[in-house]
Amino acid sequence: MTGKKPAPPALDPSRDALFLDFDGCLVDIAPRPDAVIVPRDLPGILTELSEALDGALAVVSGRSLHELERFLEGFEGLMVGSHGSEARGMEPPMAEAPQHLGAVKEDLAGFAQEHDLIFEDKSHGAAIHFRSNPAKQGQVEAFTEALTERYDGFMIQPAKMAVEIRPQGFSKDGALAILSDLVQFDGRKPVYAGDDTTDEPALAWAEEHGGFGIKVGDGESVARYHLAAPTNVRDWLAAALRVE
Ligand SMILES: [Mg+2]
Repeated sequence: MTGKKPAPPALDPSRDALFLDFDGCLVDIAPRPDAVIVPRDLPGILTELSEALDGALAVVSGRSLHELERFLEGFEGLMVGSHGSEARGMEPPMAEAPQHLGAVKEDLAGFAQEHDLIFEDKSHGAAIHFRSNPAKQGQVEAFTEALTERYDGFMIQPAKMAVEIRPQGFSKDGALAILSDLVQFDGRKPVYAGDDTTDEPALAWAEEHGGFGIKVGDGESVARYHLAAPTNVRDWLAAALRVE
């Protein structure tokens, strides 16, 4: 449990750079990935914050970029999708779709259908969600493991009640390193907020580069600060705008 860790200090828009995970951080996890509820004021808050930080704000998610754009319509700032392989507002880290992507998606979709599980199509990979039937976890893991052995260049990405297959060589911390080379991040203190195991390397990156991490929700984390839920994250963001 991270409950004993303190809440983060107020954001300093003149000195901090802000990196925000999406699911479980800015919005609550939903039973289906397409069912998340985005508070109406969220794109506006992100836009205002990005302006207050002179552009040193990025949403960094495992979601496909086009989904992030749809959920956060109205926010025109930096976005990194697909765990670091897609981006908006900067050079896309992965220039072309990975080889064998079609075959990987087809196999995953077939397995999901056969086992009555939810298939999530993604730009550079795909996921199977077993939230509706947790007893299938072992089978999903064995099947996806076999797929990564059959097709070069892909890796397993465990997630909350899901297993995803995605291209090797990309990560959220890798995305932070790339973003930090952009001029608007120069000299700023990296602050990263995220809820999942995929966020841990990025939380560690922020801690190691003069900034700090904020773990959202329960679970062990390298982050030194903690917020209980996305609603607390949004309050913390909005508070930074009020003192501006
Ligand atoms: Mg998340």
